[in-house]
Amino acid sequence: MPEPSTDVLIIGSGHSGGMVAKVLTEKGISCLMLNAGPVVDFEKDRDLKPAYELPYRGLKMPGRLEHVFQSTEFNANTWVDEKEVPYTYDPGKPYNWVRVRLFGGRSLFWSRQSFRLSDYEFKAKDHDGFGENWPISLADLAPYYSQVEEIFQVIGHPDGLPQYPDGNFVVDNSTWSGAMQRFIAAGKKLGVPVCKARSAMGRDGLASSINLLLPDAFATGKLSAVSNVVVRELTVDKNSGLVNGALFVDRHSKREMSVKARVVILAAGCLESTRLLLNSRLANSSGVLGHYLIDSLYGPRIVCSVPEARDGKSTPELMEGDALIPRFRNINTKEKNFIRGYAWNVWGSTGSMDPRNFADYGASLQKKLDSYAGSGFEMSLMGEVLPYYEHYVSIDKHVVDAWGIPVLRVHTQYTDNEFNMARDAVDTGAAMAEAAGFEVLSKSYEPNPPGYSIHEVGTCRMGDNPKTSVLNKWNQSHDIKNLFVVDGSSFVSGGWQNPTMTIMALSMRAAGHLADQIRQGNI
Ligand SMILES: Cc1cc2nc3c(=O)[nH]c(=O)nc-3n(C[C@H](O)[C@H](O)[C@H](O)COP(=O)(O)OP(=O)(O)OC[C@H]3O[C@@H](n4cnc5c(N)ncnc54)[C@H](O)[C@@H]3O)c2cc1C
Repeated sequence: MPEPSTDVLIIGSGHSGGMVAKVLTEKGISCLMLNAGPVVDFEKDRDLKPAYELPYRGLKMPGRLEHVFQSTEFNANTWVDEKEVPYTYDPGKPYNWVRVRLFGGRSLFWSRQSFRLSDYEFKAKDHDGFGENWPISLADLAPYYSQVEEIFQVIGHPDGLPQYPDGNFVVDNSTWSGAMQRFIAAGKKLGVPVCKARSAMGRDGLASSINLLLPDAFATGKLSAVSNVVVRELTVDKNSGLVNGALFVDRHSKREMSVKARVVILAAGCLESTRLLLNSRLANSSGVLGHYLIDSLYGPRIVCSVPEARDGKSTPELMEGDALIPRFRNINTKEKNFIRGYAWNVWGSTGSMDPRNFADYGASLQKKLDSYAGSGFEMSLMGEVLPYYEHYVSIDKHVVDAWGIPVLRVHTQYTDNEFNMARDAVDTGAAMAEAAGFEVLSKSYEPNPPGYSIHEVGTCRMGDNPKTSVLNKWNQSHDIKNLFVVDGSSFVSGGWQNPTMTIMALSMRAAGHLADQIRQGNI
């Protein structure tokens, strides 16, 4: 029997895979999508067992999914099982890798914060001389951001700040709570902007690839998809040097299979795409494949109490609502001990407070908890992490996954820039809260391990120079013109922003370019 073949093979079904599938099939190009995990039956799986029927009462099973802070007994099957697909690191330099292999990938569970990068990120080197500029600017990506924002129904307020570019928003005209108004006023005095947050509303309660992207692709009749198949490596035509398909394995039966393709698009999630390329020994004439691993700095936080909301006086008008402080450092000023900048997620709360915020116990603690309930005001940091060649992933020759595929070893850690940034952020945030008249109950300067933010990007970066980058500005391999990588691995710098809007805008742009190249007969 001849080997099955397709025009475009897409590996991965998340935000990036879904986006390229939609764009290509709508342009009449046939695609086959392979995905490592199963299709989710949301209707069936939505019913949760009562906590009393679960051995750990819904909490996390000890020793299971130790790197996935979101995991509980209710959702444990959502995440990639670390025993089935392990990864390694130096125990002194831990890394949290949070993966989802269900059909739709992490788009099923993301928190939907939706931001554009600005030219402070795309052209970061021009501002401080560190690293590399991206080969594109905001102007190149803006039309694609606008389309993605439309599809994902991003709600936000235009603020006119160059470091927080406005978009094609469902306009958020909600009023600020009383506490937030005081916080905004305190920020003004310190030169710190406080803006409306921006997030994808999606449709019908979901903002995922499986409801906003893939249905359009399937409707064209041009997309076929196979779930529960794990791609092992890409194959190459020895004469042309082009990729010509992939070897993959059935997740359950472990049967080995292959498929031929005219073009291959990797959309397996940043580190899985890089792992596939490293295992295939491809696209690395630059020597930078796997290098410049970036994520976001998470962990530092501040918990406050708004005195006027204590003792039963909390109201939604005083306390409810959230805000975002976009980057304000190193825009018009130059900080002494760190480059780039950070943002704060800020929110008020009308619920009970975490006892860990109080140095107390027993009846006295209970009294405080009763009094402070409904008065919480919290801030949590998102800081830019710098890209270094020395922060990288490689293949661990000694460990394989459940299908015998060599796993990744992650080599990374935070540097003084991130630690200094965290210190400035927490001190400045606490000063703002105090200036607003809030009581600061606790503050933490401590970053969580790299990867915790679930914003891993880089390792397959784009650039104009094939000697220092893996992909060109169209997410296309410099070495192999019919190979594209469209997930976050193409990022040159991370910014403070959550990455997914940029991942999708890049995927949309890359797919449009690929369609043009196919039409012109260049690929
Ligand atoms: C809890 C949570 C909250 C988040 N919140 C935000 C947020 O607020 N804002 C934001 O911007 N981002 C957020 N993110 C990150 C965001 O989800 C990701 O950036 C984005 O979904 C990545 O999309 P992707 O298509 O590149 O990769 P993924 O969604 O990881 O998709 C990769 C797909 O590839 C498949 N795959 C992997 N390896 C193979 C293989 N070998 N063979 C076949 N298939 C393979 C997987 O099955 C998976 O379906 C969050 C993530 C999580 C988990």
